[in-house]
Amino acid sequence: MTTSHYIAGRWVEGQGSDCISVNDPALGQPFAELMAASVAQVDQAVAAARNALPTWKQVSANERAAYLRGFAEQLGQRREALISLQMRNNGKPRHEAEIDLDDAIATFAYYADLAEQLPERNREVALAAPGFTARTRLEPVGVVGLIVPWNFPLVTSAWKLAPALAAGCTVVLKPSEVTPLIEQTYGQIADTLGLPAGVLNIVNGKAETGAALSSHSGLDKLSFTGSNSVGSQVMRSASAQCRPVTLELGGKSAIVVFDDCDVDQAVEWIVAGITWNAGQMCSATSRLLVHDGIADALLPRLQQALETLRVGNPLTEEVDMGPLTSQAQWLKVASYFATAREEGLQCLAGGKALDRDGWFVSPTLYTDVPVDSRLWNEEIFGPVLCARRFSTEAQAITEANDSRFGLVATVCSADLERAERVADALEVGHVWINSVQAVFVETSWGGTKGSGIGRELGPWGLSGYLSVKHVTRCLG
Ligand code: NAD
Repeated sequence: MTTSHYIAGRWVEGQGSDCISVNDPALGQPFAELMAASVAQVDQAVAAARNALPTWKQVSANERAAYLRGFAEQLGQRREALISLQMRNNGKPRHEAEIDLDDAIATFAYYADLAEQLPERNREVALAAPGFTARTRLEPVGVVGLIVPWNFPLVTSAWKLAPALAAGCTVVLKPSEVTPLIEQTYGQIADTLGLPAGVLNIVNGKAETGAALSSHSGLDKLSFTGSNSVGSQVMRSASAQCRPVTLELGGKSAIVVFDDCDVDQAVEWIVAGITWNAGQMCSATSRLLVHDGIADALLPRLQQALETLRVGNPLTEEVDMGPLTSQAQWLKVASYFATAREEGLQCLAGGKALDRDGWFVSPTLYTDVPVDSRLWNEEIFGPVLCARRFSTEAQAITEANDSRFGLVATVCSADLERAERVADALEVGHVWINSVQAVFVETSWGGTKGSGIGRELGPWGLSGYLSVKHVTRCLG
């Protein structure tokens, strides 16, 4: 049993009723367990954050920035342990676990800089009307609940924690029950740095704990990353309290490949867009739209690339792709293989679970998938790619946009004017041209349509935790 809840600056045992098993997905076996937080412990965490708020919001921006730099540095000092834990608990290949860690470090460093610049954003407003002055004050939103999923635990939490602390908010973080140990690091770092008690609180648990937090009357805001079904419940709780919510939800994103692309390069981008993190990415480019002129050359090469990918246990083998992170996810992906068979889809690669211990599936490619197929429309969250051919740019744009989601897209073309034009026409929050899944802390993250509300990263990420106040004074 692990002591796993960080409340008011102290590590405490869970008093909830759920026992959480922490699994190694490559073996399909647990390696740790912990008791979930009780509803009363969620109350204590929110109360601790509330108590800490008045002092934390008065801490100077430079001091907050110093804490954030401390987080970046301390993450670096725990490098090997964090890489191993992500490999073991998420099933991430080593190079992916390294990139996640570097992303989290860069996020804390970036928001340290933005925290220092905050006072400059509190400035006089030029008024056209005479006789008055006005000034802006950017204030922390207050006590914020942060609920995150399991697919990028270090990163997703860093994207919320760093801007929230930079803004002067105090927080209660609820990691996913699938990966509850990884974010404990943030509590350990808070301890090491002497972050004032209650500024960062961490409660672990399943849906019950999440719901206790998201519906808590003591929050000023909730920021949620996860599925659309839970996101809508979280939004309902927020609406009952009339308070703001940021939602980072699912996706069904397109990669559009025009016929002027180098075939090998395009195959590399397509494979990375669907097999990174075993396809368990909100931003997976799981819809391939391939131009008629290149399809016959590209699809067999893509089939070969997927079939020769090294899939295995990242802790014991040199791999390109690990297992799915949870048994639930493995069963979900397997159910889509069954649906594909029922729908009579043409399977060019994979389409099955691997016959070995652990939660492995083969990288999968279905071709000529009808637009009304469930696999074309639903987020699968696994290495399952659906392809369709297109003949005109307009058709590609229409089919890419024909989705309830709008998170990301990739456009591959040697004609940059065309690529930029298509990027402008796509109804999503982020488009990559001739690259794949390149996320920079300075650019925004978030989606249109059913992919969510609000933006993370960049100055937009910080704004999500700031409240704008104006003080207007009559000179007369
Ligand atoms: P999930 O919605 O099942 O769980 C997310 C979090 O919500 C977990 O911590 C979970 O314990 C908690 N939760 C569960 N029920 C709850 C409830 N009733 N009230 C409050 N909290 C509750 O999602 P998941 O399976 O962990 O993650 C996969 C999903 O996350 C996918 O849909 C994926 O697209 C999405 N995601 C989106 C982004 C993005 O940036 N848009 C990033 C990563 C993942």
